[in-house]
Amino acid sequence: MSDCSAISDRIPKAALQLLRVLEQAKERGWIVGGAVRDGLLGRKDEPDWDIATTATPQRVMELFRKVVPTGLAHGTVTVLLDGRAFEVTTLRGESVYSDGRHPDQVRFIGAIEADLERRDFTVNAIAFDPLRRELCDPFGGAEDLRNRTLRAVGDPLRRFSEDGLRLLRAARFCAVLEMNIEPLTESAMAAMAHALDKVSAERKRDELRKMLAAKQPSRGLEVLFKTSLWSRVFRDHPRLATPPSSPEALLRRVDAVENHETLRLASLLTAFPLATAAQGESEAAKRWLTKMRFERGVVSSVADLVAVLGIALPCPDDSIAVRGFAVSVGPANLEGALAVQGAILRADGKSEESLEALRRAVGREMAGGLPMTIAQLAVSGGDLRKELGMEPGPRMGELLRELHAAVVQGTVRNERAALLTLCRTLIAP
Ligand code: ATP
Ligand code: MG
Repeated sequence: MSDCSAISDRIPKAALQLLRVLEQAKERGWIVGGAVRDGLLGRKDEPDWDIATTATPQRVMELFRKVVPTGLAHGTVTVLLDGRAFEVTTLRGESVYSDGRHPDQVRFIGAIEADLERRDFTVNAIAFDPLRRELCDPFGGAEDLRNRTLRAVGDPLRRFSEDGLRLLRAARFCAVLEMNIEPLTESAMAAMAHALDKVSAERKRDELRKMLAAKQPSRGLEVLFKTSLWSRVFRDHPRLATPPSSPEALLRRVDAVENHETLRLASLLTAFPLATAAQGESEAAKRWLTKMRFERGVVSSVADLVAVLGIALPCPDDSIAVRGFAVSVGPANLEGALAVQGAILRADGKSEESLEALRRAVGREMAGGLPMTIAQLAVSGGDLRKELGMEPGPRMGELLRELHAAVVQGTVRNERAALLTLCRTLIAP
């Protein structure tokens, strides 16, 4: 097959060396999984070079100097060669999945075809032997790749009932690889949607993450919609658990925002038109992200951003309003809020002109010394103590906030003398 060279040329020397060592030991080895798929697609990212082999894990550990028994229970050892890590897995057959998540036992086998048979989708069930330049593709994965068709290996109903994670993997591959699901595979997903409930939050999160990092996450989100997986994915989100009747605007918005996780999540988890209930939206986002086990930092940055997305955009010519907006949104969320607002406009086919004008106006105010926080005031608590003899405490904090508000409102300049004068009048009995 002609496109073999697309993979061959990218295989690292160390992988070839590893395969030659197996060969000399009268074993066989193949490159499998995402590296073959992405290689045939001509995708540029550096993949994980996963190797399937006839050698037992024991034998692999004897053959290489640096090996880590990373997943012996599944027949996987990691071989370190030339500064790279390769997962080398002994050929495995199908077995029973009584819990819908893990095979009950692992059975080593001799034939690569049987190993490929247990894999989820035809495009993931291709093996490549670079020493012989042979592609082993018993399920027509290369053809499906050419047609951008995502098709389950074997009986789709059974495959999704064995492992509910495959449901989300399917949606993810549709987004990342820009593929369409073959109809029988798609109807099996809808019929087996309940299998998703057995999958751990972390594994669901990892798939959603990869989906949201696609050029067009909507391709995957649409699959969730069509297969009724959506309400299961968002079960713990008070509003999204009931799928929107027309999701198009939401999906377009997620695609339109920059490919950054916080921005993509915030676009997905914000109700539009921007509600006055932004606080409720923020709480809902926090709850869902926490249940999905997103890291604490991700939860808080997304929830904070969602909270400020409810703040109305000011007229760019109204300098006081622009200053108030910038400070209420806060320095940490300013860029993100403008980015999401821009995506909403783009998604609705509207002009971003006034948003650009606002961006410039905010920039001007900040360059002109607008103190975004109390810390940027020209006086500190220490000054109030030294100059006015104030004791630290809640009253001092309150005063600093009043001074800050006055500067933002433009009633006083952010200068030490002016602020101290104002302070004296504020504390005068
Ligand atoms: P990527 O690494 O880009 O996320 P991948 O296809 O390589 O995609 P991995 O999770 O690295 O995904 O898995 C490697 C291979 O193992 C897959 O290509 C597939 O053949 C098989 N595989 C992974 N997860 C499953 C699963 N849940 N069910 C069946 N086969 C699977
Ligand atoms: Mg991989």
